[in-house]
Formats: sequence, structure tokens, C-alpha cells
Amino acid sequence: MSRRDIVLLGATGSIGQSACRVARDLPDRVRVAGMSGFRNMPRLAEEANRLRPEALAVPDAQAAKELCALLDYTPAEIFTGADGLESLSAWPEADTVLVAIVGTGGLRPTLAALKAGKDIALASKEVLVMAGEMVMAEARRHGRRILPVDSEHNAIFQCLEGRDLRHVRRLILTASGGPFRAWPADKLRAVTRQEALHHPTWRMGEKITIDSATLFNKGLEMIEARWLFDMDIGRIDVVIHPQSIVHSMVEFVDGSVLAQMSHSDMRFPIQYALTWPDRIAGTLPPLEWSKLGKLDFEEPRYDVFPALDLARGAAERGGTAPAVLNAANEVAVAEFLAGRIAFPRIWEIVAAVLEQVGGAGGDLDALLEADREARERAAVLAGC
Ligand code: NAD
Ligand code: MG
Repeated sequence: MSRRDIVLLGATGSIGQSACRVARDLPDRVRVAGMSGFRNMPRLAEEANRLRPEALAVPDAQAAKELCALLDYTPAEIFTGADGLESLSAWPEADTVLVAIVGTGGLRPTLAALKAGKDIALASKEVLVMAGEMVMAEARRHGRRILPVDSEHNAIFQCLEGRDLRHVRRLILTASGGPFRAWPADKLRAVTRQEALHHPTWRMGEKITIDSATLFNKGLEMIEARWLFDMDIGRIDVVIHPQSIVHSMVEFVDGSVLAQMSHSDMRFPIQYALTWPDRIAGTLPPLEWSKLGKLDFEEPRYDVFPALDLARGAAERGGTAPAVLNAANEVAVAEFLAGRIAFPRIWEIVAAVLEQVGGAGGDLDALLEADREARERAAVLAGC
């Protein structure tokens, strides 16, 4: 039995909190050597006092001061700022970095961790949407793994284990459909923040919950799968599955399909990513088949939820287009959450920014520039 010593980026978030529970449940298998938090210092202190990581990272000196006053032990290091997050990602006592920072803030720490020879357990899909080719190449260069934490990708990872990729016909991502799955299109303009934040099957951070309501989450996940499994975007499909029990599927050339199932609790994929290739008897409950009732599957309403086609189009265009889609979406979601735009404006803004920005791929600077420009255009459009 080998133990993973992890740095947990985004410890105060929804994934971060689930990861802390996994670490507490499996102390022989997962040790938290480092942790970062961004806004909520009391929560970071609470987790740090329980798990006692020797290194911590916070945004600035003020946050470090607040954190210190709440800690009941003395860590070896408290890093600050964006550089500090990269230093934490390269912390010598850790072998794995779990990236659970919302949005593209996880990109530089991911690259820093790979350069320092760490494996990545990746929750932050935005990192691969923005810079999938670069991140996967960097992982290969350093002989490191990207272990998927996103439940769909963790499911596919499990279904593909030991398989020859030439035998795979397509990957099928399941989507709950979100709270508006069956709503008539003309009601969506009046959707409130509260309605959009009420996800039927998962409890998650605000940004991904809105992404699940627009289906941009599934669009981002198509691009994430394209890079994680080196699969052409044309061979990645989506099916709506409202119960969120089947987490995704792999269809083979002979027509057989393998699916992975569990309760909708992120501790399942987090635990598997951190204990892979072993399976550990933990505290997670198995499915009770007789209580499960039925599992439904239906075609997405592509016309009502244009996020899927926008994401597929951006992936086909390649270059900086996925980074543009991702950045415009991040801004539009923030504008919706702030009450400044109507729900369908999120799709409209992303579509409009994709028409205006995006070119050939290239290095990190080109991606960051496309990201910056997309954010600027999206903000202007949101103000119109
Ligand atoms: P969250 O909003 O609950 O938590 C985000 C974390 O990131 C917090 O710890 C916050 O302090 C930190 N953070 C935010 N901005 C930061 C910045 N600029 N720099 C450093 N740290 C920052 O989000 P979440 O729901 O836990 O999601 C995290 C990531 O995991 C997202 O990319 C999401 O798409 C992905 N994911 C989440 C779930 C889920 O069930 N919540 C499932 C699959 C994938
Ligand atoms: Mg997911």
C-alpha cells in the first residue's frame, strides 16, 4: 500500500472539502502536506488544524495574518500571492497536487507542479479547456500522470483501464441536464439566480452550478475529455441522464458499452484518483439497486441549450478558441451571478465573443492574451 502525499489547491471549496473528508477517512493512504485557500480563512484554518499540513498558501499578507491567528500549530511555511501558489505546488514533501481551484487560476500552479515532477489529480476542468495540449505535453515531458477527478472523466478513466484505445468507438458523457432540463425555452429569460443555483443532484460551487444549468459544464467537459483521453472531439457525445448515477460510458467498436456507477458524491472520484490503482474499502455507501428505481436517458435539447454546439465548434476550430469560450463563459457567469444579465445572455455573450476573438494556438502567452481579450469583450457585451 502506498500513500499519496498531496498538496490540495482550493481546500476551502466544494471539491476541497470533499477531498479533506477523503483524507480524514483514509489517513494511511492520503496525507495532506499542503493546502491553499483564497477567501475563507476560518474554513482554511479549520481544515488545517485537523489535517496539519506543513505548508499553506493564501492570497496576501493580510490573509496570512488572519490565518496565523486561527491556527493551533505552526506550519513550516505560509506562502502568499500567485507565486506562492506555484511554490506550494512544487512543495518537496508532496508527490501529487490536487487542483480544485475554480476557473483558470489553476493553470499556472498545474504547470509548476508538473515541472516539479508531481502527479496531478485534476478537478479544475478549465485548466484543460484553456491549455489542454500544453498541459498534457508537459505531463508527458516529465513522465507524470493527470488523474481525472471530474466524475465523468473519472468514470471513463475506470472504463478504459486495461483497454486498447483502438477498440473504442466513442466516449459518452452523461449530464444531469440541470434544473431547466425540461423547461420551455421562452421561460429561460426570466430565470433567477436562486433557481439557477438549485442543482437537482449535485451540491457544488456556484460557478460550476451555473455551468451545469447552461450545459456549458458539459461543453467544457467534452473538451476536457478530448485532451485527457486523446480522443477526437467528433467521438465524444453527450446524453442526458437526470439521476446522475451513471457517471459516463465508453462504447467499444463491437457495440458493447461499459458504464461506471455510484451515488452522486464527489468523494468517489476523489478517492479513486488518490488511491489509484488500488480500490480501498472506505466509508462510501454502495448503490442499493432495489431503491434506485429507474435510470432515464434522453437526447440533449441542442437548440435550447446552445452550449454543447458552441463547445464542439470551439474544439473543432482549435487554437485559442476553447480558451476564448472558457474565459467568456467565466465572465458571463459572474455577470449573471451579480444580477447584471439574464440567463440566456450567457450563451449569447460566449457566442458573440467567439465570433470576435480567437486564432491560431501557440504558447502560453498566446493563450493568456486570448483569455484576456475574451474577458474584456465579454465584459463590454455584458454592459450593453
Ligand atoms: P468552489 O467555488 O466551491 O471552490 C473554489 C476553490 O478555489 C476555493 O477553495 C477558493 O478559495 C479557490 N479559489 C477561487 N479563486 C481562486 C484564485 N483566483 N486563486 C486561488 N484559489 C482560488 O468550486 P468547486 O465546486 O469546488 O470547483 C472547483 C473546481 O472543480 C472547478 O474547476 C470545477 O469545475 C471542478 N469540479 C467541481 C465539482 C464539484 O462537485 N464541485 C465536480 C467536478 C469538477
Ligand atoms: Mg463533471
